[in-house]
Amino acid sequence: MIHNGLIMNKSKAKIRIEELNELINYHNYLYYVKNQPEISDYEFDQLMRELQELEKTRPEYALPDSPTQRVGSDLTNKFLSIPHLVPMQSLSNAYSFKELDDFLQRVHKGLGTSALKYVVEQKIDGVSINLLYENGVLKQALTRGDGTVGDDITQNAKTIRDIPLSIKYKKRIEVRGEIYLSRNEFTKLNEQRQKAGNEPFANPRNAAAGSIKLKYSKDTAERHLNALLYGIGFTEENEFSSHYEILQFLKNKGFKTNLNIKKCKSLEEIKSFCNEWEPKRFDLPFDIDGMVIKVDLLDFQKRLGSTAKSPRWAIAYKFKAEEAITKLNKIEFQVGRTGAITPVARLTPIRVAGSIVSNATLHNEDEIKRLQLKIGDYVKLVKSGDIIPKIIEVLPEKRDGSEKDFEMIKKCPVCHTKLVRKEDEAIWRCPNISCPAQIKRTLEHFASRDAMDIEGLGTSVIAFLVDKNFIKDFADLYKFDYVILKSYEGFEEKSVQNLRNAIEESKSIPFSKVLYAIGIRYVGVKTARILAEYFTSIKNLRKATVEELTDVPEIGEKIAQSIVEYFNNEKNAKLIDELQALGLQFQIKREEKKEKKLDGLKFVITGTLPNYSRNELKELIILNGGEILSAISKNVNYLVLGENPGSKLEKAKKIGTIKIISEAEVLEMMKS
Ligand SMILES: [Zn+2]
Repeated sequence: MIHNGLIMNKSKAKIRIEELNELINYHNYLYYVKNQPEISDYEFDQLMRELQELEKTRPEYALPDSPTQRVGSDLTNKFLSIPHLVPMQSLSNAYSFKELDDFLQRVHKGLGTSALKYVVEQKIDGVSINLLYENGVLKQALTRGDGTVGDDITQNAKTIRDIPLSIKYKKRIEVRGEIYLSRNEFTKLNEQRQKAGNEPFANPRNAAAGSIKLKYSKDTAERHLNALLYGIGFTEENEFSSHYEILQFLKNKGFKTNLNIKKCKSLEEIKSFCNEWEPKRFDLPFDIDGMVIKVDLLDFQKRLGSTAKSPRWAIAYKFKAEEAITKLNKIEFQVGRTGAITPVARLTPIRVAGSIVSNATLHNEDEIKRLQLKIGDYVKLVKSGDIIPKIIEVLPEKRDGSEKDFEMIKKCPVCHTKLVRKEDEAIWRCPNISCPAQIKRTLEHFASRDAMDIEGLGTSVIAFLVDKNFIKDFADLYKFDYVILKSYEGFEEKSVQNLRNAIEESKSIPFSKVLYAIGIRYVGVKTARILAEYFTSIKNLRKATVEELTDVPEIGEKIAQSIVEYFNNEKNAKLIDELQALGLQFQIKREEKKEKKLDGLKFVITGTLPNYSRNELKELIILNGGEILSAISKNVNYLVLGENPGSKLEKAKKIGTIKIISEAEVLEMMKS
């Protein structure tokens, strides 16, 4: 590793810390919000560890909002954010038995004894949930969110059969667990999605995370989610003495719990239980990505306490990425959006990490040379959970002489134009901008979730539209008469209507996303957002010079050049004009500036509220940009009124300009 915290000089450490902050935040966003991770959990943890090490050796450069200090966040602005009564922490990970042993040593040291019990259970690869029951009734369901507040998904959670709507227990209690999608349901769902022209989900976890955050609960119900409950947060009384007892309690109250648990006393016992499940995990109906080890006695848990982010009394032992050996039958080439040619390995299908793998990306010509790959070779590949499998090495000892040398193609496999490779690049490209393969990729990018988010315009539909010459560019998408499709096989009345609606709806997609969708090179989601906020309209952006662009925070020379080049191209300029005339958003709207719902408003709360404690509601109001005042004055805009208010109500009435509202009304104000 070049980035070694110990030998790194000061300024390098500072730069690397900032880089890591940015990288980790980006991957957190992909994982928790977009549900489309680009790197494995293991790689993510490596980044996190590097940052932790650097912050230890150079604490003066640690950023106050460092991701090492908080739980990754799944918060979206689609749901109301509500605080957890007890924060939801995340577990730290152990990637080897050595690290597991280190954990046990820390626990022994912390407690001054090694005579204790652990409960070991499966780590379900799903989405955390926090259920609040009051008077035996399910009141609310929240996602983990950022650990302090979560997204309110109560209506969606109610559709999950494993979650009881009422229990025989009257006291207020938070029950915690994991929502997941079984492998069977996952396969069914992806088949349906592909049929409807939508992108399949990468894995059951992503599918579960997407399903629990759907807008309509009837749609969530159709996903057939499951839940396993394994813990509690808030309780009114300390009536439990151990984690094991809590699990029994949950089971007795009608919650679905995981029966594959074991009490262990030593590292040896824990190891053997982990070793037992590592190979057996693929026989389970759902995905697990490791085992969770918890100190059993709650008194001990309390004594050990927790860091800002994770409890010191629990750890997740993560299973290794699975490796497999198979044969490379041929190498084919894909043409990307910018004409980039990517070699793809076609393999003899093999089961790895619970799914059948028959392709692996080879990145570029240099990577193939580095691996010294020949066609017909046996290769070792690795797949960790959701990530695209990767060939890590060739097994030359298995060669029998029939293998063939790899040769890079010279012409585009689709349009047969001669490929070019720039001196400073590892990638060969097809330079033909009318290449049908590039048009397809460009349209796929345009319609994708982060861009124009056009449901029903997936890979197969786009391929059809381009192959039939119906559509050549983005503007055609808005001009084409989709009714024509009804005369072709595979297009039903309803799906054609849905597609037309989705295309029409995409006209209201905000400017920042449109800017990302048009596919300027190097302009990703985040850069597009920065540019949109800075320039506020395409009119301003088009006029910007390279110098003006590099003045914008986080915009470097390369991006600036690319933007100027893009708008200098007459074809692009014409296309933008056309899209603008068709009604797409090319300037920022007020709400895009992300104003909070209660910005500038001042509140006083009085009396007992029906659903929230006063502190909870205060926190919510502040989170939404409002301000809390303690006394009634002319400055107050709203008085939130509960039962048995005090003198505040009278005072507010006297002033006359203060609006008196209920808890429900203030919650309504926070909704989008
Ligand atoms: Zn081509």
